[in-house]
Amino acid sequence: MTNKLSIQSGYRRPQAFCGSRLLFSLACLLVLLTWSVATLSDASPVLFLAQFDRDQKLDLLIRHGTLVDGSGKKTRIADVGITGDRIVFVGNAIKAHITATRTIDATGLVVAPGFIDPHTHTLGDLTSDQTKSNQAYLMQGVTTVITGNDGGSVLNIGDTLRKWDAQGIGTNAILLAGFGTIRGKVLGPTDAQPNAAQLEEMKQYVARAMDEGAFGLSTGLYYAPQSYAKTEEVIELAKVAAARGGIYDTHMRSEGTAGIGLLGSIKETIQIGREAKIPVHVSHIKALGPDSWNQSKQAIDLIKKANSEGINASACQYPYTASGTSLQASLIPRWAEVGGRAELLKRIDDPQVRPKLIAEMTENLRGRGGAESLLIVDALDRTLVGKRLNQIAQEMNKTAVEAALDVIKNVGGAGVASFNMNEKDIRRFMKEKFVMTCSDGSTGHPRKYGTFPKKLHEYVFETKLISLPFAVRNSSALTAEWFRIPERGLIREGYFADVIVFDPKTVSDRSTYEQPELPAAGMKFVIVNGKIAVEDGKYTGALAGRALRKSSGAVARP
Ligand SMILES: [Zn+2]
Repeated sequence: MTNKLSIQSGYRRPQAFCGSRLLFSLACLLVLLTWSVATLSDASPVLFLAQFDRDQKLDLLIRHGTLVDGSGKKTRIADVGITGDRIVFVGNAIKAHITATRTIDATGLVVAPGFIDPHTHTLGDLTSDQTKSNQAYLMQGVTTVITGNDGGSVLNIGDTLRKWDAQGIGTNAILLAGFGTIRGKVLGPTDAQPNAAQLEEMKQYVARAMDEGAFGLSTGLYYAPQSYAKTEEVIELAKVAAARGGIYDTHMRSEGTAGIGLLGSIKETIQIGREAKIPVHVSHIKALGPDSWNQSKQAIDLIKKANSEGINASACQYPYTASGTSLQASLIPRWAEVGGRAELLKRIDDPQVRPKLIAEMTENLRGRGGAESLLIVDALDRTLVGKRLNQIAQEMNKTAVEAALDVIKNVGGAGVASFNMNEKDIRRFMKEKFVMTCSDGSTGHPRKYGTFPKKLHEYVFETKLISLPFAVRNSSALTAEWFRIPERGLIREGYFADVIVFDPKTVSDRSTYEQPELPAAGMKFVIVNGKIAVEDGKYTGALAGRALRKSSGAVARP
């Protein structure tokens, strides 16, 4: 794990930031100016020129913790010192005669870089006054979230970033430009193919989003209207993001056996990477539905082969056997959604169309594992929540597909947990070096509150499938490096002080399908940009997160 952005090397004892000597003050002024520029632009390389007084106290010292620094290297006992928003010391504080205004005794606890979640649905949460603190994530030890995934984002990236700056947010946050948002704006909900002018207009939107601070382009080719786009259209837009140092993140066209299937979709993603010369990321990788179980092996082989051919391909994963989506997205074929909801409703009632619709939905339901595999987790009609589709069908005295059509038409749809994955595939993906941890957190699914601690509790400490350094790396530094987020994801001098302290004995998810919003346990301290956001397991009220912007300085890899 290397980060080419850091010019900070090795151990450096903190010394005077600004002494009283006159000669020094000019230099100090320069340092301060450089510092403020570096702080304003989160993407600037570490200009760690600041010298701290040997006798000056640090703001915070985390003593004697078990350090897992994010690099994947094995654990060691070390002290971590923080001043301002930076990590300024990693080592033995007593030997180095370092003291701090506040000291946390982390004996027996794990000290790690704050986790980075590359796939969340926090855009609304961060923007709303009630949920901007992002506690669902802070309590998991997540200090940076990426959002705008699945192709669903905002057109005006800059406005949203500025709003987050102005109101304050609990975690750092990054936006992606959303293909669905852009295609929807230019072409509407139709299955039309863009003409030259429309393609150009879409490119302009991607360019503007990147210039305003987006870290890349996201797509959700599974979803309408993005599903109507041909691969070539996506490549053209991905090239625009690539030219600005961005990445390509995708919820692929298919994750199971429907359409081009899981393996066909991975091939399409790799083709986009090859032709647009852009790093590609498979979001929430899975083998969806019994027919595709075990294809994880071939999926992994395809991604490894792409990497060996110079395409920078990666993936992320949440450790649950159920995915989370809407009843409509999981069952309705995309052709029935052309033109939007009003057209869908007409088709549902059209006696010419309905039989074909029902036949395809029946097949989609079978492919997901049947009616008992769909649990309603969110709906305007709250009496449906907590029920499986087979139970609802029974109560309505209808077939499962007829019942689903009723819910889509009369209730306005529903959010579902779709139990379609196999534990063997989940474990196989998890062991791969290129697979990051992501929550894909959505309302009603326990993954929004539990992903990161669940992975630690269940797969590191309980079943020991993966090691602690591996799990931490794939939840922090790997994500930072791959998404090109500078100066975060490692416990390293000069890096931003996104630091977590957790108890390996108690760290765990508490959220369940019945109670999806129970906060996770075990995070003792969560520090965001040097400020304590979780203290002794409780949220402090801090809004220390920053809206991060990509800048040209952030480009580090081909
Ligand atoms: Zn998705």
